[in-house]
Amino acid sequence: MNTLKLEITAQGVAVVYIDVPDRSVNVFTPEFVDDMSAMVEQVLGDPAIVGAVVTSAKNSFIAGADLKVLVDAYDQGVTAVQASQRFARENAMMRRLETGGKPFVAALNGLALGGGLELALACHHRLLVDNPKAVVGLPEVSVGLLPAGGGTQRLPRMIGIEKALPLLLEGTNLKPQQALESGVVDALVSAERLIEVACNWVLAHPQVNKPWDVKGFSVPGGSGCLAPHAVKSFQYNTSLAKRDAGNYPARLAILSAVFEGTQLPFDTALAVEAKYFGTLLANPVARNLMRTMFINKSAADKLARRPQGYDTCRVRKVGVLGAGMMGAGIAYVSAQAGIQVVLIDTDRTAAERGKAYSTRILDKAIERGTQTREGAEAILRRISPTSEFAELDGCDLVIEAVFETREVKAQVIPQAEAPLMPSAIFASNTSTLPISGLATYSQRPDKFIGMHFFSPVERMPLVEIIIGDQTSQETIAHALDFVGTLRKTPILVNDSPGFYTSRIFSTYTDEGMAMLAEGVNPALIENAARLAGMATGPLAVTDEVSLDLQKRVIDQAHADDLPVQFLRSHARPIVEKMNALGRLGRKSGGAFYVFPQGAKKHLWPGLAELFPVAQAQPDVQTVRNRLLYIMALETARCVEENVIFEPADADLGAILGLGYPTWTGGTLSLIDSIGLPAFITECDRLASLYGKRFRPSSWLRERAVQGVTFHPQTAR
Ligand code: NAD
Repeated sequence: MNTLKLEITAQGVAVVYIDVPDRSVNVFTPEFVDDMSAMVEQVLGDPAIVGAVVTSAKNSFIAGADLKVLVDAYDQGVTAVQASQRFARENAMMRRLETGGKPFVAALNGLALGGGLELALACHHRLLVDNPKAVVGLPEVSVGLLPAGGGTQRLPRMIGIEKALPLLLEGTNLKPQQALESGVVDALVSAERLIEVACNWVLAHPQVNKPWDVKGFSVPGGSGCLAPHAVKSFQYNTSLAKRDAGNYPARLAILSAVFEGTQLPFDTALAVEAKYFGTLLANPVARNLMRTMFINKSAADKLARRPQGYDTCRVRKVGVLGAGMMGAGIAYVSAQAGIQVVLIDTDRTAAERGKAYSTRILDKAIERGTQTREGAEAILRRISPTSEFAELDGCDLVIEAVFETREVKAQVIPQAEAPLMPSAIFASNTSTLPISGLATYSQRPDKFIGMHFFSPVERMPLVEIIIGDQTSQETIAHALDFVGTLRKTPILVNDSPGFYTSRIFSTYTDEGMAMLAEGVNPALIENAARLAGMATGPLAVTDEVSLDLQKRVIDQAHADDLPVQFLRSHARPIVEKMNALGRLGRKSGGAFYVFPQGAKKHLWPGLAELFPVAQAQPDVQTVRNRLLYIMALETARCVEENVIFEPADADLGAILGLGYPTWTGGTLSLIDSIGLPAFITECDRLASLYGKRFRPSSWLRERAVQGVTFHPQTAR
């Protein structure tokens, strides 16, 4: 057996070490399932073997299913019925292990997630190593699926529906003590004694039976709609699932599988679980979540886009120019990553103010107990606030985050470069000014790059790396190394007005404002965005970024004589109007919203007078499509114009940078899921109703004719 090693002790206990080859962690593969099935038969069939201990030869037990295989299943056009058969062999193996009459003990020597925990639940006893890294859980809901190896049936039958539902619906990982308290495992054992204790249990329990295979079994706490906890368990959790607004089908499927399954005999219940799993795997949401949020994000985090052949750059000292909102955040995340920071502003007081931002974050972390006083002091010691550019001497990287005007940037770039060593990189955090233009102020344009952080820097996971005309491959590689050190997710884009994220972001805010001007009820605009799954409505987010900034960007686009699509003519009048009224956003007391002290923000009543609500209102679906599609269409334009070249980056940028809904898998995944021809038809409808910004290009139409998708599809 290629994936298992079997040792038989002198007392006849088979100790099974799982070791799936060529994988750093064990995952379910077809070969592993074959080997497990053969092993179970061997244990059950050999009279010299009294039972088995199942453990792993790696540091962790089993991490779950191979997501790549599940993504491929969707791409290959699997139907719900076919998908429901996906884990039939796994389930048959686990059921045989469970009902064969000999004891099986799971000796969890490390983390056991998804299918790994389900295998343990099928065993007759579970021991978990007492090590904080050894978490257990059923996280399938986070990838749009449900545990299809009996997890939705065994867990409630073991610990009761009331306790099982939160674990299934939230997919939280349990630390060893929590796993013990909730009854998911039976005991915690030290690593040294794990196998010995497991073998002893086998020897002490020659006769085993699962409670649900004994006549008269009932689920602890009861099942069905008359169970005492039913209102709390099912109605409460259904209302939670309602928050998913129909965008994430997994929670409702889990609730249904548990509700129906726990009222049925076990084997019929497994069939119910399989049926619901089939509907989820054949749905694009699970594919989108798995591909973007796990496979592609993990590849981006491992710097998949890094040009090959350059030594890794370890930034030890970074200079940050401008200690304002962004500079202060960049200084904090750099110092937290162990890097020395020179934080420069026009005078020392301003620089000190920037450093105080880190102090505030760290004080809160100490209060919450997530940071120690010594740890915080060590981070703060790494930040040196100053107004002296000479202190940049020895920096491997300088990031400028001064005011967003060319004049100020033109002034600081040569000033900062003077003391730098030749190998150092200069990065600009500009959100709008073209990088190649700024590079003309640099003595070494090959070392000049865009590094666009998002606000608040310490919370936002994305960094958009912008390649200027003359940026060298080595500079790209080293900039990515730095983002990796900060443990953020980088995407790579070419230089162009607004780059990628700012460009599609403005289509979102502008569409919201355009609807407002048309007389669409602002509450409808905001609610439709939330129902679609956007993190923040277009008007609310405009209040956050401020309307004076929007005005400056639009004015700059006119001053720079940019092509018409960058002039934002449908949003400009609203931006102008709000600026004229001094309603600039949250920072000035509110624009589209009001922010009353101590109460929740709400839409500004004055909007009704400024933008009277029309009698005829569009349906929610149309408003939702306008918001989601305009961003997707702009992303397609960015691909056409080679602003962004990897579909995975486009999707990650939209979700991680702009709060585009995760169920879509990102802007390009949305188009692929709908199908390009259907997407174009809807865009044409919207163009005829609302303006030519919705009209797809001939390039996009040609792709539809040729049947090209943005993401590669496994052949159907
Ligand atoms: P800010 O106004 O909060 O901070 C700018 C800081 O630069 C101020 O502290 C100012 O005193 C300092 N400064 C100005 N001239 C200087 C000089 N000659 N030398 C040293 N320091 C100088 O601005 P911000 O919001 O932090 O934005 C900074 C940059 O980051 C801009 O390019 C902006 O476009 C970009 N950006 C902002 C956001 C955002 O959400 N605010 C997001 C991404 C990128």
